[in-house]
Amino acid sequence: MAVEASVERLNARFAESDASEILRAALNAMPGRIAVVSSFGADSAVLLHLLSEIDRDVPVLMLETQMLFAETLDYQRDLSAHLGLRDVRLLTPISDVPEDLHLRDTSACCQLRKVEPLEKALAEFDGSITGRKRFQTGARAAMPVFETDYAGRVRVNPLASWSAQALVDHLDAHNLPRHPLVSKGYPSIGCAPCTRPASSEDPRAGRWANETREECGIHFGPDGRIIRGAA
Ligand code: SF4
Repeated sequence: MAVEASVERLNARFAESDASEILRAALNAMPGRIAVVSSFGADSAVLLHLLSEIDRDVPVLMLETQMLFAETLDYQRDLSAHLGLRDVRLLTPISDVPEDLHLRDTSACCQLRKVEPLEKALAEFDGSITGRKRFQTGARAAMPVFETDYAGRVRVNPLASWSAQALVDHLDAHNLPRHPLVSKGYPSIGCAPCTRPASSEDPRAGRWANETREECGIHFGPDGRIIRGAA
């Protein structure tokens, strides 16, 4: 209840603020107890750039599923150095994962490569910050700026109201390094076996292209259930 009240207060005060102000409010509300979760994907540089202007020592958690494109890992190193981020943590699977599990059971594969390691890493924090945007999927359309996650932590979405064009404008205005696969037709980038090039009109269409899902399984509803085709 205390977290929900805090989320309510933060939304009432900062929901209409700009992204930097939202970030500052989140960091001030949970000093040393909040982490950014980033995929170092197509537009991750926007949130990370805003963070770097405020505090470069905030932990940045990246799921290193061991199935990522080599370009993503190169980009993580280059972008982190460019922005001067000092605490980027790569989260690898805790359990052994069969190499071909994604071919047989993508939910189980995401559980082992993403959900478990993120769960373990977030256990030491009271809140997380994401780069999710409302325009990305139908279920994100009503996403609040501050919300409570399935475990009772605060989850902050400073870019919730941003448009695709606003992201591009920010990347251009600050001359931020771009993920090398964007120019090769990948507007949304996840694990290599589950990502294909897609049209810019529907950026996430290249993720799990043979399935109806839109999400990798690392986002949960308030009741703890993994949200499918949503969030
Ligand atoms: S996105 Fe694909 S490869 Fe990555 S964890 Fe999920 S099922 Fe496995």
